[in-house]
Amino acid sequence: MMAANEEILHHTSPVIIYSTTSDGQQTVRARRLAKHTLPWRAFGYEFRACMNPDCNPPPYQMHVKGKTNRFRVACSKCGWKSAKLELKSYEPHVYQVNPVASPLLFWHSYPASPGLQNLFVDASRKPSSRMAGPESDSDMDISVDEAEE
Ligand SMILES: [Zn+2]
Repeated sequence: MMAANEEILHHTSPVIIYSTTSDGQQTVRARRLAKHTLPWRAFGYEFRACMNPDCNPPPYQMHVKGKTNRFRVACSKCGWKSAKLELKSYEPHVYQVNPVASPLLFWHSYPASPGLQNLFVDASRKPSSRMAGPESDSDMDISVDEAEE
């Protein structure tokens, strides 16, 4: 139903509570279904975590920048820009509902896990797969990407 009526997800993100039973053990889970909507909500989530631990930007100073399929968050309070992520699942934090039928729909834990909140910060810390040293080339990637926007 949500996949056929994505417009409603511009205004709200429903939380789905369900239970699973495994080995006789019942577990109740909560998931938020949300739509990837730039420039406000990457993967349907309003990211607020800045790489600078002293920054604590208010929500209106964190922006999602880039294209629908490849984007980053940027903090206008301190100037930090994250590494870019792609429009796909980043398990176990973000799951794409259906990459073919509903590529902009995602679900994630509710309430948001620390791993979800820090998804862009953690992605920015990890060295690029092309370079193993501490001097990652991600800064160069970001400055090259800057020209695209
Ligand atoms: Zn900041």
